[in-house]
Amino acid sequence: MPSTNAIYSGIPTTIFEVMSRLAQQHDAVNLGQGFPDVDGPLSLREYAAEALLNGPNQYPPMPGLPVLRQAVAQSYARFQGVTVDWQSQVIITSGATEALSDCINGLINPGDEVVLLEPLYDCYAPLVERAGGIIKLVRLEPPNWELPVEALRGAFSANTKLVLLNNPMNPAGKMFSRPELEVIVDLCAEHNAFIVADEVYEHLTFDGRAHISILSLPNAQARSVAIGSAGKTFSMTGWKVGTVTGAAQMIEPIAKAHQFTTFTTPPHLQMAVAKGLELPDSYFDAIKADLSTKRDRLAAGLSALNFKVGTCQAAYFLNADFSALPIGETDVEACQAMVRDAKVATVPVSAFYKGSAPPRKFLRFCFCKQDSVLDEAIERLDKWLNNSGPNAAKTG
Ligand code: PMP
Ligand code: GLN
Repeated sequence: MPSTNAIYSGIPTTIFEVMSRLAQQHDAVNLGQGFPDVDGPLSLREYAAEALLNGPNQYPPMPGLPVLRQAVAQSYARFQGVTVDWQSQVIITSGATEALSDCINGLINPGDEVVLLEPLYDCYAPLVERAGGIIKLVRLEPPNWELPVEALRGAFSANTKLVLLNNPMNPAGKMFSRPELEVIVDLCAEHNAFIVADEVYEHLTFDGRAHISILSLPNAQARSVAIGSAGKTFSMTGWKVGTVTGAAQMIEPIAKAHQFTTFTTPPHLQMAVAKGLELPDSYFDAIKADLSTKRDRLAAGLSALNFKVGTCQAAYFLNADFSALPIGETDVEACQAMVRDAKVATVPVSAFYKGSAPPRKFLRFCFCKQDSVLDEAIERLDKWLNNSGPNAAKTG
């Protein structure tokens, strides 16, 4: 057997898949991997089904169907007040994951430095390493997730090629403020670096806070692209339709990477996503309201059980400090005990850190689930903690 690629052979299966498999194995309520348990708008599914039956079903244009690229450009005008040219500034990919891969492969050369902010979404570091990039980590910590400006400044050098930013941030639920974004943009301008902003949770924001796209900062526009995901915006994570929008000079090499990665994305889904982006404001308001109610429901349940629940401004996740509970020394231990014994799956927050000594007392709970499912999770945790659970096991 010849040796296989050292980077991919050396890393474990992603924590999201691991926790979903464990959830299945233990018949657990799955608050681990981030996906809604109710599909998005029926009208979009019907439209996609009709397009599948009636076509087109052959290769769409490599950069994406014009109808979707136009809808993406219109949605940046509508939601961000930003004008982009759909022909030179938008491409469609098979999910945000492909978009991230295309951006990294299209923009960096081996030996280039890439600034990544911890907590990191799972694919960032392996993709940068596989492309030969050198990772410079900057750490944000729970529960406040403050951007450490001096550490950020220190991560830049003459070799910095790119900053990869996740805003709103998974798992932190943090939305970067305009001053924070300006610091990042200024540093990138100073060092002539690109910005790739993974903005997949752009529409899942709470408490009246508006998402600030990197494309809305005038000084960022010439050096930035923003990534979107229809899976998140329309609650159909299996659709895998992503978008990359931004500086035309960046889109060109990113499209070259896309043409040799997937080349294109299923046309019926592209057509349905174009329709989705034209949905009225009531759709976009309702998804925010619905998710924030779920956030509050789960937060109340966890707080009553003595988890210390952090704030969540956006996305699908609550991070809870379990230090007051006797459920494990580390988040990995607590997470394993919980899925096995309480039958509730979560994700350890340390899985989002690559550097040494990550935070070890936080679990990520996904709340984009039906109310009955959230309630069942709390009931199971209550029973475990207060009746059968780790206390009983310890004293017994
Ligand atoms: N980026 C972040 C921060 C995510 O949480 C996800 C989750 N799915 C993705 C990218 C990937 O999106 P997609 O499913 O469209 O590939
Ligand atoms: N983004 C999802 C999460 O954070 C997982 C997506 C995946 O498993 N690739 O849980």
